[in-house]
Amino acid sequence: MLEIRNLHVKLEEEDKQILKGVNLSIKAGEVHAIMGPNGSGKSTLSYVLSGRDGYEVTEGSATLEGEELLEMEPEERAAAGLFLAFQYPVEIPGVGNMTFLRTALNAQRKLRGEEEVSAGDFLKLVREKAKTLKIDAEMLKRPVNVGFSGGEKKRNEILQMAMLEPKMCVLDETDSGLDVDAMKLVSEGVNALRSEGRSFLVITHYQRLLDHIKPDVVHIMANGRIIKTGGPELALEVENNGYANLLAEEN
Ligand code: ADP
Ligand code: MG
Ligand code: MG
Repeated sequence: MLEIRNLHVKLEEEDKQILKGVNLSIKAGEVHAIMGPNGSGKSTLSYVLSGRDGYEVTEGSATLEGEELLEMEPEERAAAGLFLAFQYPVEIPGVGNMTFLRTALNAQRKLRGEEEVSAGDFLKLVREKAKTLKIDAEMLKRPVNVGFSGGEKKRNEILQMAMLEPKMCVLDETDSGLDVDAMKLVSEGVNALRSEGRSFLVITHYQRLLDHIKPDVVHIMANGRIIKTGGPELALEVENNGYANLLAEEN
């Protein structure tokens, strides 16, 4: 599904190398987690995958089902099936949540050369997804994220993900200060959307999140590289011993 090879990334503005050869291979249906100390480059990896400005890829590749993502515009990446959970956390006063979701969905369909979804079909779809995710119909009518609580924003993010039906979901939860309730929402959302054809990359500081999501593979990132890959037990090791041992092994 997602294949990252020897990815090197530096800041555009400064001569600072942040990613120094990241390799990552995620198969269809798998859930991978990336953990790692602050400043190791985890968020940079998700920004680069999303196509955010300010970063320069100096070497390497990232393909989604064989297609090079790094050469695509951000909206083309979305149309190819990539979803970044921080993609739409903005508040949009005056734009109803429903309108926003429908616009996003139709923009994606257009890029894929598919027909727009009709008003009736859209309504059916959004109600069905909201029900599955236990999202109140009231929230669908409000302006996008305006006055939403942290938990509601999280729920909305998961709804966006459910509506766009991506193949590859990347969730960077590192700096969002997830409280226990938000953590539960994210994990329930991810678990509800897990399927054979859909993969997840969950970036987190919190071992606890992985108690609920149960990843197939756990990676530890430090200093711009993945220094160790293992099963869920690796997250427990970090929980118990911190990163010091792993960092020492690496050096
Ligand atoms: P993590 O998500 O693992 O905490 P980040 O990807 O946020 O790590 O950051 C990796 C390193 O790159 C840090 O040293 C951070 O200070 C630096 N960095 C990332 N983006 C920028 C930027 N736009 N300007 C300056 N430094 C940056
Ligand atoms: Mg950080
Ligand atoms: Mg981060």
